Amino acid sequence: MKKLLRYVGPTTLAMSLAFTSTAMANPQSKPNGPWVEDEQNLSFSSFMTNEELYSALEKIERSSHGKMELEIAGYSNVFEPDNYWTEEEKGDPIYLAKFGDNDPDKKKILITTQIHGNELVSTEGAIDLMQKLAAGGKEVDEILEKVSIWFLPRINPEGAMNQYDGEWYPARYTHQTWAPEALGLPAETLAPWYYNSDGSERAQNNDGRVVYGVPGYDENRDYNPNLDFRVSDYSASEIADALNDQDVWKQDENGNWYEAHNGKNSSDYGGFYVTAESRIVTEVFKQFEPDVYIDVHHRGFNKLSEEDNRQVSIQVAADVAGDYTDPFSGKKYSVDKDVLKLGKQVNAVAHESLQRGFSSFGAIQKYPKVDLPGTALGAFALNDASIMLIEIKGQSQTLGQKQIGMLKSTVSVPIYEVAKKLADGSIHNVDPAIYDNIPEAAFRISDPTTRGDF
Ligand SMILES: [Zn+2]
Repeated sequence: MKKLLRYVGPTTLAMSLAFTSTAMANPQSKPNGPWVEDEQNLSFSSFMTNEELYSALEKIERSSHGKMELEIAGYSNVFEPDNYWTEEEKGDPIYLAKFGDNDPDKKKILITTQIHGNELVSTEGAIDLMQKLAAGGKEVDEILEKVSIWFLPRINPEGAMNQYDGEWYPARYTHQTWAPEALGLPAETLAPWYYNSDGSERAQNNDGRVVYGVPGYDENRDYNPNLDFRVSDYSASEIADALNDQDVWKQDENGNWYEAHNGKNSSDYGGFYVTAESRIVTEVFKQFEPDVYIDVHHRGFNKLSEEDNRQVSIQVAADVAGDYTDPFSGKKYSVDKDVLKLGKQVNAVAHESLQRGFSSFGAIQKYPKVDLPGTALGAFALNDASIMLIEIKGQSQTLGQKQIGMLKSTVSVPIYEVAKKLADGSIHNVDPAIYDNIPEAAFRISDPTTRGDF
């Protein structure tokens, strides 16, 4: 399986170069940071462990006087409705916090956080918002009368609690071993391209990489525009052929990588729904049919523009998937025009909600243009949800818990404002051009652990 990573490598490299080529030529913003220095110990002590998260959720439910209803949507290693087991153990619970029911006459927002286990602030920000909603008041009551808001916080609970060297070391990936025979496939079938076979993670130390040794998947590539996709619904040979059909990257005479073959087991296609986590989230999505789906991530550091040295607070995106044809059925998917319009309005509201004088809150960029049908946002946008990607500044491995108060409000404030404007209908008067005019991603500030991919 080690061999796989060599194939994945060039793809990732090519993608991140494409994202950063303009930024790399640009001067760095001042000040550079404030990420922690090499070898400096990171403290995660103010972040919630899984246990602490669960008790926080239960506490919010108790204090909400019926406004919030807490359920377990499933477990990280077992998917209840079709009893799909990925490991021996049951795994960790994925909680569903419901503010409001599934009334089709209401507007509906679904929010997920920590699909990448190391993106801790996303969950902390969601908890802040839940507390605000649970506390109630006139405005909150008016919102919840018209809008139901469901949260799936920390949808990668195993990556979130990952350990390295006896310490808590949150990782991007899930914990799960590729076991083709368990899926009825030939033993030598290649893993999905987003499999992290050696259990490695980027880091500030050890040349920017640690190997914690637990294999797993990038859950945010395991989704599929065909929300009902199951490996077991196809013949073993059909699935094995698809999995063994990976991208082939070659170098031209100038040493530039190019895609010599576009395989079905690649980011151009949907994922294989091999994680219980992605199936659980998708099942909630199918049941709820949200108007708006918001997924919260972390990213690196940018300055806003040539003239404006403010550090970018968040990057946002309303559009992460283009037209898609299912390679198995030939079924075509595309993002509906009105769905995209509302998505732009949602992102525009988020942008406006953080404009506070000349503060760094308002320094917002658009996320780089991508076409990723295997992401939760991409797959759900192709199934009629208006989407917003929020990318918080900094990674847990770089920022630790610095600036956490500010970072949390770059999650809770925009989402609250979106809910408010959905409730009173004023979101439909927002000019989608506000979104179009948000500055493009650029002026990246170098940082060894920064990722170019959400
Ligand atoms: Zn992420």
